[in-house]
Amino acid sequence: MAVSNFTRFPLGHFPTPFEPLEALSRSLGGPKLFIKRDDCTGLAFGGNKTRKLEYLLADAVAQGSDMLVTAGGIQSNHVRQTAAAARRAGLGCIALLEAPAFTPDPVFYQSGNRLLDEVFNCQCVYLAAGQPDLNAKAQEYCNTLRSQGKAPYFIPVGGSNVVGALGYMSAAEELLQQTEANGQALDRIVLGTGSAGTQAGLVMGLRDAGVHTKVTGIAVSGTASEKISAVHDLCVQIGGYLGGVTAPEINEILVSDEFVGPGYGQPTNKTIEAINLTAQTEGVLLDPVYTGKAMAGLIQMVRSGEISSGENVLFLHTGGAPGLFAYPNFFSDPGGLKAAALNPVSA
Ligand SMILES: *Cc1c(COP(=O)(O)O)cnc(C)c1O
Repeated sequence: MAVSNFTRFPLGHFPTPFEPLEALSRSLGGPKLFIKRDDCTGLAFGGNKTRKLEYLLADAVAQGSDMLVTAGGIQSNHVRQTAAAARRAGLGCIALLEAPAFTPDPVFYQSGNRLLDEVFNCQCVYLAAGQPDLNAKAQEYCNTLRSQGKAPYFIPVGGSNVVGALGYMSAAEELLQQTEANGQALDRIVLGTGSAGTQAGLVMGLRDAGVHTKVTGIAVSGTASEKISAVHDLCVQIGGYLGGVTAPEINEILVSDEFVGPGYGQPTNKTIEAINLTAQTEGVLLDPVYTGKAMAGLIQMVRSGEISSGENVLFLHTGGAPGLFAYPNFFSDPGGLKAAALNPVSA
């Protein structure tokens, strides 16, 4: 079955812009860089989860659900967009939020995405750091709700199941229309990879169209082999679900784990450098958890010559900038402390 046969619940602004990154390309002395602005999907500051949620919400509504149940980290972009989507569809939203092991900073627990969950009145359930299986917890939660007569719709971490991944199969179609109009085929796409639905959907969407652009995922957590398996498993599931399109071999799935640093949600110096360089050349905001690491990977591949200067390379901007507000200490004059020090009333 073709992706276009599935119902979408409209949530986003599509197509998202496809643009050259001329100043960043120049500053790297590198290949022609382009960006697909999936940070501009429009729903509650946007991001890649919006595309997945259009298919997931359509399914939730078709099943007569009365609430969405999902899970993620305290600063989850996915939870923020899911909470917004639930409200748009007139549904409740419950999110299981796992605390980070790496910071006790109250700003991390109050600002950024977390603040926005409150604005959407998402019902948050807090879990200690180090959960072995957040999806299993959320499913248990759904079972309890069902026994109380509720009709919850379970959305896995990152919205990464077959239904959610359809969002990135259709994104591949949208992108191919844009590159065709632009008259330049892409040699490679670079993106951040977490729960793997974005990379899997994109890979399958390109295959479905018979296009062989390389897709390089930059892991934001875990190891390359874990991510490669996760992407491949999901590709196989999508192939089984749709029919007519087959998954690639596992050795065709490309993921680098060189930019994870100490772990999920923990930016490295290279992450911060990538955020600052992209902001200061292009005026584009990346984030400390996903796109900063993904761009650090792209920059390194250009500098090392792994990406040659003749290539056309797309950076898929998957969103996440609201997360910047949870990481003030990684940037200069965090929180305007110099200004606060000048304020005579503050004492
Ligand atoms: C969730 C997320 C990703 C990763 O997408 P997956 O489909 O989980 O691999 C990348 N960037 C941002 C900003 C995200 O929120």
